[in-house]
Amino acid sequence: MGFFVTSIDWVLNNARANSLWPLTFATSCCGIEMMHTVASDNDIARFGSEVFRGSPRQADLLICAGTITHKMAPVLLRLYEQMAEPKYVIAMGACTCGGGMFCDHSYSVVRGIDKIIPVDVYLPMCPPKPEALIDAVRKLQKKIVKTESVSKRKEFVNSHSSKLMQNGELLTEVKS
Ligand code: SF4
Repeated sequence: MGFFVTSIDWVLNNARANSLWPLTFATSCCGIEMMHTVASDNDIARFGSEVFRGSPRQADLLICAGTITHKMAPVLLRLYEQMAEPKYVIAMGACTCGGGMFCDHSYSVVRGIDKIIPVDVYLPMCPPKPEALIDAVRKLQKKIVKTESVSKRKEFVNSHSSKLMQNGELLTEVKS
């Protein structure tokens, strides 16, 4: 029985990993690099991720490209919750990963989207080049194929919220 479950997981994970559909979600300058990744010079279609969707219900990869403000946080959370399961997140750029240049003095910028949603791959540069984003997608693909199963995925998502609650870091105002 275990053999069949493992084999089914392997087939499903390979299918998922090679057909990640990103949500079109760019809030600032990193978004330009994300758009460049789709263009013919870099051609993210080689890795099965060219189908950027306008609706979260048709996407399973959130590439968060740009600064997230506290005002934007509820929108980010809502979009994430509306995405198809299992869903994955790449935090693109220093601003998304930890607040970037706004980390010290801004009152409005969230210091990392992992205060709101779980992140699979961090890409902390300013801005990350298209090659770096492709590398992040490849890392995510490897992670999905090697380590993922539906139950492990649920554990990962649940552990994110409980860890933040324990540390008192969860941005509860995003729920309002
Ligand atoms: S990391 Fe740099 S390029 Fe990306 S959104 Fe922040 S300031 Fe802009």
